[in-house]
Amino acid sequence: MQFIDLKSQYNFMQKEIEHEVLDTLRSGQFIMGPKVDLLEETLIEYTGRKHAISCSSGTDALLMSLMSLNIGKDDYVITTPFTFIATAEVIALLGAKPIFVDVDNSYNISSRAIEECLEHIHKINKLSKVKAIISVDLFGLPADYCKIEVIAQNYSIPLIADSAQSFGSTYKTYRTCSYGDICTTSFFPAKPLGCYGDGGAIFTDSDELASKMKSIRVHGMDKDDKYNNIRLGLTARLDAVQAAVLNVKIKYLKDEIIERNKLAKKYNEAFSGTDLITPIAQNCKKSAWAQYTLRHENRDYIVESLTKKNIPTAIYYPIPLHKQKVFQDFDSYNFNLDNSEKFSREVFSLPMHPYMKDSDFEKIIEECLCLV
Ligand SMILES: *Cc1c(COP(=O)(O)O)cnc(C)c1O
Repeated sequence: MQFIDLKSQYNFMQKEIEHEVLDTLRSGQFIMGPKVDLLEETLIEYTGRKHAISCSSGTDALLMSLMSLNIGKDDYVITTPFTFIATAEVIALLGAKPIFVDVDNSYNISSRAIEECLEHIHKINKLSKVKAIISVDLFGLPADYCKIEVIAQNYSIPLIADSAQSFGSTYKTYRTCSYGDICTTSFFPAKPLGCYGDGGAIFTDSDELASKMKSIRVHGMDKDDKYNNIRLGLTARLDAVQAAVLNVKIKYLKDEIIERNKLAKKYNEAFSGTDLITPIAQNCKKSAWAQYTLRHENRDYIVESLTKKNIPTAIYYPIPLHKQKVFQDFDSYNFNLDNSEKFSREVFSLPMHPYMKDSDFEKIIEECLCLV
């Protein structure tokens, strides 16, 4: 049994993907070009945003977003510690300081905690140093954008949505990745929309930010002149082979998200009435189900027992970022982070992908129910 069954997915789409990849190899166009252009057009259509900028990874998408906002030394960026390291790593890489605020029981950043944090920073007269808020759509569930967008606008602080895990999700009338001033995603193979290497994308409605990001993507080039460098940038393009893979896979994403939602519903039903804490239901949101994550006080025992029965599990995330060694050496500010600390001790994820066999599902349920 696989935790994420990329092989079954590949078998399903094999002919089309191989055709597209071969076509790219024969074209000799490996960097940018028609495959990347097509992907960006499709991403614009999918999200309804004005600009889609493909790039080399979800991490670089975040880095380029902060760079486009001129975030640097001693600036503050508010974010959650219950996420993948990349979310806060990019802040520190630029010399800025992460301010960690807690998550609520949806595992996403708490809008109340953001407000309390901003009120406190206002009191100590440092509000002008807060240059961005980065929310994360953990496990595929969009953060509470209705509230977070209003807070960000009230304080005139740009909002970056780290949607690395949630491409394909929806929230009220929002299309996927249409949250925030800037929204970033990742095409890492295990994400809901994955390629066969590293990749990512940035979405924005701002012409100014989009043109800056396109410049940063290619060493700070001037518009249409790559040997005239007007700012510091990166090598952060998506390669054409990955775009070719994504051009096929994105056609199946809607159906895959439906399958993921069906599986999540089956898990929820099977675990209702047990001690396992299932993901909280939010009717206005449709998760992309990057992960199906449960919580239990005896997490370590459960994970160990399932491993012995050959049921793959994963723990996202065992160490909240403010406890990571790397952030002991950097200036970061921590508000009350009790939930993040508790959840990192109690969460574990079960296999979640659109190609789950009934027999595997039944085995997972049977083994889990023996333990709780
Ligand atoms: C995966 C992930 C990233 C980084 O994406 P990469 O493509 O691996 O660089 C950033 N943030 C979150 C929340 C992620 O899950």
